[in-house]
Amino acid sequence: MISNTLKQKISSETSLTKEDALQLLSKNTDMIELLTLTYPLRTKYFEKAVRIHILNNSQNGYCPEDCHYCVQAKDSKVPIEKYTKKDEDQILKEAENAYKKGAYRYCMVFSGRGPSKKRVEFLSGVIKRIKDNFPIEVCLSPGLISKEDAKLLADAGLDRYNHNLNTSESHYEKICTTHTFKDRLDTLSNVNANNIDICSGMIVGMGESDEDIVDVAIKLRDVNVKSIPINFYLHMDGNKLGKLPKVSAEKCCKIVALFRAIHPTAEIRLAAGREHYLGELQSMALMAANSLFMNGYLNIKGSDIYDTIGMIETAGFTVDADVDLYTLKASAKTMDALTQFNSTQLELKSKEELIPV
Ligand code: SF4
Repeated sequence: MISNTLKQKISSETSLTKEDALQLLSKNTDMIELLTLTYPLRTKYFEKAVRIHILNNSQNGYCPEDCHYCVQAKDSKVPIEKYTKKDEDQILKEAENAYKKGAYRYCMVFSGRGPSKKRVEFLSGVIKRIKDNFPIEVCLSPGLISKEDAKLLADAGLDRYNHNLNTSESHYEKICTTHTFKDRLDTLSNVNANNIDICSGMIVGMGESDEDIVDVAIKLRDVNVKSIPINFYLHMDGNKLGKLPKVSAEKCCKIVALFRAIHPTAEIRLAAGREHYLGELQSMALMAANSLFMNGYLNIKGSDIYDTIGMIETAGFTVDADVDLYTLKASAKTMDALTQFNSTQLELKSKEELIPV
């Protein structure tokens, strides 16, 4: 049972304390009661819309970092297709395609620790050309960055910067040894200092405690995050982190609802692994989340356009897409265009790779 005091705090959007948040994740809290409480916040700011995002990788693999969950890490044995960064004209063409299909935001994801000065100059040039030619928002995910380099990107017109915290400070050394939680947090501060919107979230299922989850949610509030992807760890043979017990769908729903309670106005996204962890409860999770990734996750396959739209509409939500999905849905040719960025995704062998607890 959720206490009346806590219910009142959630509905009046009062900042939750760490103790409040832990209570919401505890076994005593009923998932449906919690989702029912956060649903009015979700509809207040986003009505019943579900914003759909498609990931677009601009460089894959060749990363010197050792994030144990990542198939692009230096120690990963997962057989992904690696490629160095796309050239400026390729990226411009993709941005133009995205714009012509009705996208309002174009996102570029680069593997690696962070961009060199030369890379920042390259990216600034690309961003400026995109902004000069197409009225489209630009989001970038290039890794750790200094305040000075973030300023160059801001001056070029960058709208949003993605850099996930992934897990809490105390859990961080169990998932990565080549950089620290503080490095990641500093990047968010550097981006924030230059008035670029922050997109940052976590990965659930890496052996973290409830306290770790709550710490991430509260830390993201401190840096004024606007967009929060909630990923769920996907094990592939060759991942350094290995197989871990799977977090139940019910718990995942409570985690998503917790993020909504702490971040009433943020875009909260069901990201990598939503199909594998939430399963049938994905539509329940949309009572708190207002956004999702479709068509897979950089290197791993996810549910396609038909399953995703079907799931959203069956549950009574509406599709709010970066691209005109209804047109794409009717066109096999444009479906190919939609999947072109993700042609090298790997498939999980089976859902049993994740062990339910
Ligand atoms: S820095 Fe990014 S690309 Fe490199 S291993 Fe970590 S998560 Fe993967």
